[in-house]
Amino acid sequence: MKRILIIEDEESIAELEKDYLELSDFQVEIANDGVKGLEMALNNDYDLFILDLMLPGVDGFEICRNIRMEKNTPVIMVSAKKEDIDKIRGLGLGADDYITKPFSPSEMVARVKAHLSRYDRLINSASANDIIHIRGLKIDKRSRRVWVNGEEKSFTTKEFDLLVFLAQHPNRVFTKEELFNKIWAMDSMGQIATVTVHIKKLREKIEFDSARPQYIETIWGVGYRFKV
Ligand code: CA
Repeated sequence: MKRILIIEDEESIAELEKDYLELSDFQVEIANDGVKGLEMALNNDYDLFILDLMLPGVDGFEICRNIRMEKNTPVIMVSAKKEDIDKIRGLGLGADDYITKPFSPSEMVARVKAHLSRYDRLINSASANDIIHIRGLKIDKRSRRVWVNGEEKSFTTKEFDLLVFLAQHPNRVFTKEELFNKIWAMDSMGQIATVTVHIKKLREKIEFDSARPQYIETIWGVGYRFKV
């Protein structure tokens, strides 16, 4: 049974969401404030989060950012204001979907189901197989070969490791420091700036237009994420 956490301070809305999700056989828990919600989100295994934006304690922006540092679990953000949704999109926090209040509960359930099955497919293709296939990009982890729109490209060891790491953690934002620690951990000669250089090389090889990347996106002031 899929487990869902609702982080929502308006109890009537939280209960309505819970009722509808339970009717569709989901296991649902509720956190009524941001502090509790963040703590539950980080310390338990949920399959999806429904996250209200305006919350006492810690707001939805901060919770989404913190979840994305740790997990790829789908996040559906809920807000009373359309402008807030534009703002969340602009921040690139990594939410998977946005719903404006008031919403139809059955539409919410439909979106939950869609994101759960999309995420299952993503997980299966990213970790169970040696082949990662995302749009025009195909990576064979075992033979360490990469094709872009059918054409094979060559990569250095670190470029390949960085690409695979990003592609296996889609929609998650990593800082340069995090990427450096993951990929260059054993290499004491490296510097953080090498991450920027490698991202640039990757884009030259996999992006159609490096200035408008479709795979590796820069999140200003934070780092990079691989878009799916
Ligand atoms: Ca609220």
